[in-house]
This record gives sequence, structure tokens and C-alpha cells, in this order.
Amino acid sequence: MSDRLPGFSTLAVHAGAQPDPTTGARATPIYQTTSFVFNDADHAASLFGLQAFGNIYTRIGNPTNAVLEERVAALEGGTAALAVASGHAAQVVVLQQLLQPGDEFIAARKLYGGSINQFTHAFKSFGWNVVWADPDDIASFERAVTPRTKAIFIESIANPAGSITDIEAISTVARKAGVPLIVDNTLASPYLIRPIDHGADIVVHSLTKFLGGHGNSLGGIIVDAGTFDWSASGKYPMLSEPRPEYHGIRLQETFGNFAFAIACRVLGLRDLGPALSPFNAFMILTGIETLPLRMQKHCDNAKAVAEFLAAHPAVSSVNYAGLASDKYNQLARKYAPKGAGAVFTFSLKGGYDAGVSLVSKLQLFSHLANVGDTRSLVIHPASTTHSQLDDAAKIKSGAGPDVVRLSIGIEDKEDLIADLEQALGA
Ligand SMILES: *Cc1c(COP(=O)(O)O)cnc(C)c1O
Repeated sequence: MSDRLPGFSTLAVHAGAQPDPTTGARATPIYQTTSFVFNDADHAASLFGLQAFGNIYTRIGNPTNAVLEERVAALEGGTAALAVASGHAAQVVVLQQLLQPGDEFIAARKLYGGSINQFTHAFKSFGWNVVWADPDDIASFERAVTPRTKAIFIESIANPAGSITDIEAISTVARKAGVPLIVDNTLASPYLIRPIDHGADIVVHSLTKFLGGHGNSLGGIIVDAGTFDWSASGKYPMLSEPRPEYHGIRLQETFGNFAFAIACRVLGLRDLGPALSPFNAFMILTGIETLPLRMQKHCDNAKAVAEFLAAHPAVSSVNYAGLASDKYNQLARKYAPKGAGAVFTFSLKGGYDAGVSLVSKLQLFSHLANVGDTRSLVIHPASTTHSQLDDAAKIKSGAGPDVVRLSIGIEDKEDLIADLEQALGA
């Protein structure tokens, strides 16, 4: 082997994996077991005391999941990662390490709808208070900082309209406030954007979407950038103070630049319990092997479909950052030069009725509530995910009555355009 550092596509296939030492199996085996035999009593004691790394019980760690963790950490440029059962589980485990009851975190207003629900309602019941800021107005993040602020949360490419967030500008605000920046990189995947290169301290994903990529397995992951000093301010006792669960060790002092990933595993996953099934880890790992090929095709198709829609007489506007005319095109060129992702919205001149008619006439696009599948997907938010909001609230969240959201798959673009053409025209 030369000294060359492996490129992204090589890491997507190989990072974290080796032929199985016992059987020689080349694909990563599914270690479908709950628990692991200790070598002897001393070994068991050292595992439980965090003096040695090793497998104990699949709620805390599993060898199949470990390959997935190492692979995503490599692709994102982090020091370590922790796989969990879903994207939402990743968010709750991250914030549990950072917030005490009564604390606050700042979140960009443009987020996946499920995250808005989780932050507004479920987290409120834990005493964690979300303060909203506008990702198009960096000063709104600065104004939102208080002594109780413990983190800032944004999406790199934001739902539902595929807008691009200025990660570096917001990371400057986080640094000044002495709090970590958490970036949900689900819609970009590390193939398009690596948030750690732009100042993120923690990256989270719903593996359910583009990383798994085939619409068949839920999963989530947390990547530790290893960049944040948890002991500088006394604001993060889970990481800086002696832990009674582990004979009084301090996690940052003991584990250095991967202490956050360790905290998420031994305090978060161990006690909250949202472990990823090794079977799902296997499915997601297989998906990641083709991430670069799929992502490029997703983006190329999305651009072609967006251009078709922008020129169609029934369409009043298209929000796709990959179009030269788009408000976010400058940011897309800076942060996502290979492509602006594959999730975007457009508006129909015919309003609500035209939206309902379109989703019912499309044949190749599946009408459902998901993104990041090999298949092309469509949803009319006003009649589904956002139907409970009044018209003003719908418009504010980018889900007005005339808005349709697409997640473009990896089919032939000519077939996708033909399907849209028949559904819009007929
Ligand atoms: C789907 C999604 C989530 C939640 O992930 P689950 O795996 O469904 O729990 C979080 N953020 C974004 C951007 C998503 O698209």
C-alpha cells in the first residue's frame, strides 16, 4: 500500500470493515446476538469500568454497528460516531448530554417537520427549551443567545425547500457563545457537504434517508468532530465532571477528542435505550457503499427536473438551490459544489386543488411521507403533513396550499419528466 489517503468513494466501500477474522467473510456479517462472552472475570470488570473497549450487550454496542460507526465517522471527517435506532433518537441522545432541565438550545426555524414537533413538544416535557432563529438572518442566532444556551442546531440543506444554510457564519456565532454547533446533515449526506470542515462540532443523520438510501431501514447516527472543549466553561457537567455511574471518571479527561461519542454511548444509549438493530446496520452499510454514485445521480436528476418545472406554464415557482436563479445558489456553489441535493419544492398556479390533482395523477412518483429513497417521491404538504396548520402558518413554514415537495430518485430523468408532464398537463 502507498501512503495515499483513501478517497471518499474508497472509504464508502471499505472504511471500518475487514474480512471477518473467524470465517473470512468479506461482507460485514450481521452479528445478531444480544450479548458477548467475557474472557474472564477481570475482563468483565474492566469492560464495565470503561477501562477496556469491547462488546458487552447490543444495547451499548455491536460489531456490525461498529463498522457502520467507523465508516460514517470516516466519511464525515469526525473522530468517532455512535449509531442509534433513528434520526430522532440521535437528536435526543445528543441533547441529553448537553442540556439540564431549564436549559435552552437555539434551532433554525427551517427544519424537518418531525424535528419541529420533537423540539416543541417532547423536549419541552424534559425541561429543554427551544429558541427559534432564522437561518437566513445570522444575527437572529446571536440575539437568541442567553447564559442558558447550551447548543445551536441547524440543517445543512434544510427541509422542505432544500435551502442551503451558511454553516460557517453560524459556527462563528456558536464559537463566540462557547456552545457546540450541531448540524443535521441528512439531506446533504457527507458526499455533498461535510459540516465538520465548516466548523460543526457534532453531526447527526437520519440514516433512514440518503445514507441507507433504499427506503428499507430506519437508523440514526451521531458523529463527534472532536473539536469542542467540554471542560472550558463548566456548562457541560456530563462530560467534564466525575460520573458516579463509572467510579467517578471524567469523560473528557479520560477520552479526549472522542469523549462526546463515548458520553452518547455510555450515558445516552445505555440509559435511554434506542439501540440500532444489527440487521438495519447491515442494510445501511450496504447502501453506503454506493452513496457517491447514487448521490450524484440524485442531484443530476433533481437539477434536470427542476429546470423542466421552472419552464412549465402550470408552475409559478421552483425552489431549488441548484438553479442559477435561486436565492440560495451562491451558498450552494460554496457548500455543495457537486450538487444541491434532491429534495425541493415548487408551487402550482392552480393552488390547493392543482396540488391534490398532481399527486393523484403521478404514476412513477410515489405519494408518501419520506425522502432519500432510490425511488422518486412526492407529497402535497398542505393536504398531509401540514394539514393541521392554518393557511398563514402553512405559508410561513414553506408549505402553502400551492406547494408540492419532491424527493428525486435515481430513475432515468426522461421518465420522471414524462410522468410530471402527463400529470401537470392532463
Ligand atoms: C427523517 C429526518 C429526521 C428524522 O429521522 P428518523 O430516522 O425518521 O427518525 C431528522 N432530520 C431530517 C432532516 C430528516 O429528513
